[in-house]
Amino acid sequence: MSQENQAGNPGFLLTSVETVAGLAQSRSLWPVTMGLACCAIEMMATAGPRFDLARFGWEVFRASPRHADVMIVSGRVSHKMAPIVRNVYDSMPEPKWVISMGACASTGGMFNNYAVVQGADHIVPVDIYLPGCPPRPEMLINAMLELTKQISKRPLLGHRKEIARAVEAAALAATPTHAQKGLLA
Ligand code: SF4
Repeated sequence: MSQENQAGNPGFLLTSVETVAGLAQSRSLWPVTMGLACCAIEMMATAGPRFDLARFGWEVFRASPRHADVMIVSGRVSHKMAPIVRNVYDSMPEPKWVISMGACASTGGMFNNYAVVQGADHIVPVDIYLPGCPPRPEMLINAMLELTKQISKRPLLGHRKEIARAVEAAALAATPTHAQKGLLA
């Protein structure tokens, strides 16, 4: 395509800006510290020298949600902790993303009881579900690379908020885990 044709395309300039913004955002993710159980040990190992999260530009774990743009929910979420997780998520500035790390964070895992939330998506909109008990640091790195791909392609402006709200509404409308019978239905 000639440059003239490209310039005549109304999406050309915005697409270029989106590409650059997507590259910058996806290569400088700052996770908020959200270690809830044993999975958090693997998350900490991921940031250590052996696995070296710094290679990808994500090593700056922040203690303040206002400095962070990705939440790694690592470990089972107790009902007591749920409002705090949501509070931290709400305090993060847009755009923001969530990785649910491990079987417990994603589905309640082995803790199918009254004390544990049966999936972090009952509280926050989840972008990546990471299986395993616990997932190894390589798996977390792979999940973050997948998130990087999603962020690189995301449209700019207000779309992200709408997507997050739609994901959240779908999760809240879904059948609760305790009511899912699977092959026993
Ligand atoms: S998935 Fe396994 S390692 Fe992770 S919080 Fe649950 S029990 Fe612990």
